[in-house]
Amino acid sequence: MSTPTESAAPGAIAGWMFDVDGTLLLSDRALGSYQLLPGAVEVLSALRERNYPFVLLTNGSNYAPAEQAEKLRRCGLPIEDRQMLTPSVVTADHMSRRDIRRVLVLGTRGVGHALAEAGIETRYTGEPRAAEVDAVYVGWHPECGMKDIETAAQAIWAGARLYAASDVPFFATRQGRTIGYSYAILGAIRRLTRAPVILTGKPSLHALRLVARRLGVGMREVGVVGDDPLVEVIMAHRGGATALAVTTGTTSREDWLRQSGKCRPHHILRELREVLNYLP
Ligand SMILES: [Mg+2]
Repeated sequence: MSTPTESAAPGAIAGWMFDVDGTLLLSDRALGSYQLLPGAVEVLSALRERNYPFVLLTNGSNYAPAEQAEKLRRCGLPIEDRQMLTPSVVTADHMSRRDIRRVLVLGTRGVGHALAEAGIETRYTGEPRAAEVDAVYVGWHPECGMKDIETAAQAIWAGARLYAASDVPFFATRQGRTIGYSYAILGAIRRLTRAPVILTGKPSLHALRLVARRLGVGMREVGVVGDDPLVEVIMAHRGGATALAVTTGTTSREDWLRQSGKCRPHHILRELREVLNYLP
């Protein structure tokens, strides 16, 4: 059994959210391939067979959700397109509700895909009127240059709001810690503009709210499974959900046991298969 780290978890779990990197798989940045982690296929297959709703939410924004889902299916994970959520899906939802129509995207074409699908006009650095937008959205952008930073700053000084897919310094891959580009890019933009950031990826409540809506359950009924105390666990606590921690990513069992407050999970799983112990 897993180790309970608090007296009682918030409540019964009616729907599941899984992190991807470090929880279901490790990607190999050099080869662009994935290595599934033990139990990943078994757990998702069991949830599917027993009709428990689940979604995957990555903080990675490089691929459009359907493209990411296809990649994961090819390596064996039983998921459908609609079960794959990325920060860009959350961003598109948030912007649509606030009447944001034109966005400067600092990222790959994959980063802007979900926005364009939602009918939001996406612009990229170097395109005409790139700085004349309602918002700037920062995502996966390994090629980001000073011209991008400058265009974003101009847009923000002219009144655009600042959105970000992810604000974490690193994530787990087979090569160990890999830097989060948006974290570094946001550092530069915020030093210039001091603009507040609307974070749409984990650990934001915007993300958990969309997860709950997709699952058709309340936020407190979501079981959040992840490898990072500052990402999944904080998000779960914010929304009153149950946080279940795995030891296959950035955080070892010893590290989990040292966490306190909002970084402390409700349960530490010895292996991913223990998720099945929480099904009624
Ligand atoms: Mg992770």
